[in-house]
Amino acid sequence: MSGTATSATETDVVHILWINAGLSCDGDSVALTAAMQPSIEEIVTGALPGLPKVAVHWPLIDYECGPVQGADNFIEWFFKAERGEIEPFVLVVEGSIPNEQIKNEGYWCGFGDDPETGQPITTSEWLDRLAPKATAVVAIGTCATYGGIHAMAGNPTGAMGVPDYLGWDWKSKAGLPIVCVPGCPIQPDNFAETLTYLLYQLAGSAPMIPLDEQLRPTWLFGATVHEGCDRGGYYEQGQFASEYGTPECLVRLGCWGPVVKCNVTKRGWINGVGGCPNVGGICIGCTMPGFPDKFMPFMDAPPGSHVSSNASSAYGAVIRRLRTITSKTLDKEPKWRRTGRQLTTGYRT
Ligand code: SF4
Ligand code: SF4
Ligand code: SF4
Repeated sequence: MSGTATSATETDVVHILWINAGLSCDGDSVALTAAMQPSIEEIVTGALPGLPKVAVHWPLIDYECGPVQGADNFIEWFFKAERGEIEPFVLVVEGSIPNEQIKNEGYWCGFGDDPETGQPITTSEWLDRLAPKATAVVAIGTCATYGGIHAMAGNPTGAMGVPDYLGWDWKSKAGLPIVCVPGCPIQPDNFAETLTYLLYQLAGSAPMIPLDEQLRPTWLFGATVHEGCDRGGYYEQGQFASEYGTPECLVRLGCWGPVVKCNVTKRGWINGVGGCPNVGGICIGCTMPGFPDKFMPFMDAPPGSHVSSNASSAYGAVIRRLRTITSKTLDKEPKWRRTGRQLTTGYRT
């Protein structure tokens, strides 16, 4: 995809430099290939009206590779960005940032080699080099946003999210805060939409991206899983599953949906289909800064869920009985719809 850029010094091309060399499984890159609103193809081919031309330097699909210095190979774009030769660019970071200061030798993770030393350039060094030059820095996935799985208690790397590394108040040279799109992995359209928003903002056609305190786009992470869940009606009526494979609410099986900010129950996963509890999986809070430690052990009922589900069981049983009566009435036609010589609809001349 890098080859779509006509010149590294063109100012009407927005370059997207993607570093997936944090502690990462590449799951967010893979997830993004499923985006539909818009698709990554629509973004990079300029199919959306008003979007600036983009050149994406993304390890997952880029056909450029190789360490040839000075040539337009994959890693060279990152050196060009460091030298100020491409402007503007958006830096996308996938994976958590290990702490390289806690050991005397070796490195936790890197991306490309330093031409002078032949040694790998660490992920944190790339952040030091490129963040000051980037127009926007975007963290994709819960590892990059808040540390995620690699930052669990007891980990040896001291891993953290991009805001932990650069600072939660960090702003780009254009005045943009770090933009965080959490999820393990991201819901594909959430990221595609955020990237599109930023590109429109860079083109001058959108106001400053609205973010919450955890730097998430507010329109995507303002509601809870529970508020959009297909099983919400069962919760309200006090009907709880005791095993998987039933349609009832999953809270007693360990669903954290009532307190987790995530929109997959409303948005689905791919093309509107899916979304963990909708399709039978408990919510384990993968979009949250406290993930995973604060949600473990995953299969246990969350604290407080017994109180709320017991209360719901009690009033839900009453509501269900009343609804059964109403439903029986509504399930029958009005009595005047019948044959016979007499009109009983109440019609008056
Ligand atoms: Fe993989 Fe999840 Fe980390 Fe993304 S957030 S890199 S999917 S472990
Ligand atoms: Fe809420 Fe989870 Fe039950 Fe859905 S399955 S209604 S998100 S508690
Ligand atoms: Fe993650 Fe829960 Fe959202 Fe599923 S519903 S994606 S587990 S936060």
